[in-house]
Amino acid sequence: MLPDGRVPAAGASCASFGTVSPGTAPSAAVAVPVLLRSVCDAQPTTDKHAAAISAKGTKRDLMFAKYSIRLCALPLPAIAAAVNCDVNPARKIDIRALLLDDLQKTLCAWAEPKYRAAQIADWLYQKRAVDFASMTDLPRNLRQRLEAEFTIGRIDIVRVLGSRDTTRKFLFRLTDGNLIESVLIPASPALYGSRSDRRTICLSTQVGCAYGCKFCASGLEGFSRNLRADEIVEQIIAVERAAGEKIDNIVFMGMGEPLANFDNLMRAIRIINAPWGLGIGARHITVSTSGLAPQIRKLADDPLQIRLAISLHGATDAVRNQIMPINRRYNIDMLMAACEDYVARKKQRLTFEYILINDVNDSAEQAHMLAARARYVSAKINLIPYNTVAGLPWSRPPRERQEAFLSILRAAGVAATLRREKGHDIDAACGQLRLQTQRELQAR
Ligand code: SAH
Ligand code: SF4
Repeated sequence: MLPDGRVPAAGASCASFGTVSPGTAPSAAVAVPVLLRSVCDAQPTTDKHAAAISAKGTKRDLMFAKYSIRLCALPLPAIAAAVNCDVNPARKIDIRALLLDDLQKTLCAWAEPKYRAAQIADWLYQKRAVDFASMTDLPRNLRQRLEAEFTIGRIDIVRVLGSRDTTRKFLFRLTDGNLIESVLIPASPALYGSRSDRRTICLSTQVGCAYGCKFCASGLEGFSRNLRADEIVEQIIAVERAAGEKIDNIVFMGMGEPLANFDNLMRAIRIINAPWGLGIGARHITVSTSGLAPQIRKLADDPLQIRLAISLHGATDAVRNQIMPINRRYNIDMLMAACEDYVARKKQRLTFEYILINDVNDSAEQAHMLAARARYVSAKINLIPYNTVAGLPWSRPPRERQEAFLSILRAAGVAATLRREKGHDIDAACGQLRLQTQRELQAR
């Protein structure tokens, strides 16, 4: 599949339009990301879509949405000319979406020695080469061929919040103009069971999110597309480059639902974990899910010992139904059954994430029910005081109420921690920086 030039499991991406990156014309500077988003979304761009954009945005958004409807019918070079973008009509694959095995097969098909694959991986993940020309121990004709068939993508950091000693949030613009974010969390005691000297990155797996949890910024603007494996891996590389620090703990708790982008997620995890890749141990990789029961079982089939966190946020269907639409599809009993299966097969402890939201899920009754559920599957509990999101009505309970909730869990014999949100002051909850930036762009 891969060597023939197709992006692996790309999902609803820009693939049908090729690789598009914003141009520099002053008139296009603000509009291009909005426009490209419409152009590149694989969803059909209809008048209804334009109306939705205009309802949320400005007259100019409507104009661009309509413009993009017309553009969608045009061939790629015409779109490029119209929006003044650089386009790569060859639709090259990013080489960082390939596993070593894929690389070896490609080289084999080119009649090159297999060991070249390890050399290329070394350039990509150890030496962090940004182009093929710098891979000086490869023969020139191989470098040229790689150049002709692949790209080494870079995602641009467009905004950084926070400082060196605190949680830092990075906003990226993807090559199709979409915005995503990652959070770099400095050494933090016992975060997801890791040692306190680990630097953690919180990665996004999708642009937006389709699951629409009522408290979350990521779902507010809906779902745009899945990230490809290379876009997931590149978040780590770009943050390490910008921060000058090595990251050694990964949590998939940024924007999107990782298990809804299963194939790209697993491909990215293999690259992150492999000795030829980023070499981060499976036990230092945590995937968080809002409760996709079938995919939890699918994850249990995978031999990698990555950790799993369940975003529970309610101990009963009544509470979960109120804030997490996914619970209507997989209710709490179905979710617990999948967790039980996971634990039995993986012989590993789960973590329940539980955001404390004032007067929604923070009663003593919920705490007792939660303790019972955690004991049933031997899960640890991570309590997180809710981070307010502009435009949403929820707030965190007062500190004493948070502590009271924690005490009930501990008295019931459950391992539980109450996290002081490191990133509260920089809106670190997933999706918030992107949302804020998008709103600023629309208001211009
Ligand atoms: N979709 C996955 C992973 C991304 S969300 C999931 O839901 O698990 C990562 C975590 O951030 C989840 O536990 C989510 O519930 C939490 N979260 C979302 N919005 C938040 C907010 N405003 N304050 C605190 N945590 C939040
Ligand atoms: Fe999506 Fe997770 Fe946010 Fe729910 S909490 S909307 S699943 S990112």
